[in-house]
Amino acid sequence: MTTDRRQNARDATVRVRRAETGSATQTMVDPLVLKNVSVAYSVGGRDAVAVSNVSLTIHRGEIFGLLGESGSGKSTLAFAVMRLLQGGARLIEGEISVLGQNVYDMEPEALRSFRWRNISMVFQSAMNALNPVLTIEQHMEDTLRSHDPTISRPKIRDRINEVLDLVNIDRQRAKSFPHELSGGMKQRVVLAIAMIFNPPVLLMDEPTTALDVVVQRAILDQVRTIQADRQMAILFVSHDFSLVRSIAHRIAIMYAGRMVEVTDRLDHSAVHHPYTEGLMRAIPELDASGVTIDGIPGSPPDLLKLPSGCAFHPRCPDVFKPCAVSRPVSTQLDHSLIECHKFTMNTEDHSDA
Ligand code: ATP
Ligand code: MG
Repeated sequence: MTTDRRQNARDATVRVRRAETGSATQTMVDPLVLKNVSVAYSVGGRDAVAVSNVSLTIHRGEIFGLLGESGSGKSTLAFAVMRLLQGGARLIEGEISVLGQNVYDMEPEALRSFRWRNISMVFQSAMNALNPVLTIEQHMEDTLRSHDPTISRPKIRDRINEVLDLVNIDRQRAKSFPHELSGGMKQRVVLAIAMIFNPPVLLMDEPTTALDVVVQRAILDQVRTIQADRQMAILFVSHDFSLVRSIAHRIAIMYAGRMVEVTDRLDHSAVHHPYTEGLMRAIPELDASGVTIDGIPGSPPDLLKLPSGCAFHPRCPDVFKPCAVSRPVSTQLDHSLIECHKFTMNTEDHSDA
């Protein structure tokens, strides 16, 4: 992500806020606000907390990247935002507001019409969930009709054409079945379905993971163009550092359900949290001369047996006494908001680590 792009996003946000003439609530409200959100799965009668005390605001025109190892809670967080938690998961604390409305205060019917029009999601592995016996236009028609049963045929046709144009798929392919399309095209179709009501907020969960790098890039370029054009707020979930870095304005690193670092500069010289540093050391970089490539010893913790204090402390190279005792609080340092005792306590005391 370049400084220019970050600055453009900030400028765009400010411009939008200044220029819009709609109601004050419409203009000033951030599209997505999470306050102290925790989500737990019930496992054998016990709570496995998969998302822990996450707070974040995504601004209009901003792509917010969410990075983390498998199992760190990225999808759970996205499902919580959509109020689509399943498998015994529930919001145990916190608030989630989309366009100023608390998603968990809505009646089911209101929520149903609110979703997809105001916020939609590209699900992890969604391209594999396309129904093999329905054509692309049937998928789209179903989605349109389920939210607007009285929509006319010409309107359906127009809207299908518009979203196919948006994702660069030939209109003729509307008649194709999923198996007649390449992986990249299927993923574009999934994106087109998510965009069918033109929502201002979009969640994308590993949208390009199964695709080769060239197709990934092409789709991401498209996402960026659509997003910038419409000033959408996007939560972009991935475990691919370089991908997220190239598309997001800000990035959060998740570990065991917590956002341990939120930064607008994801490079070796700018990150601070020992976990982020460890992840970055595991990635080969052409221009990072002198940086040794190695992994992080150990593996992510079992949610039912989370280590005390900072959950990362058993794997942390910088561990010291307070790390096993208490959870670190968030601290702002340079470009980052970090949860790490190293930056708030006296690191001289290594005695009981
Ligand atoms: P990935 O990169 O593999 O998609 P993720 O970061 O999206 O991983 P989640 O799918 O949100 O991770 O899972 C977070 C944690 O919640 C994991 O430890 C997972 O084992 C646990 N989890 C997910 N679904 C359930 C479930 N139905 N019951 C119990 N625990 C679950
Ligand atoms: Mg996931």
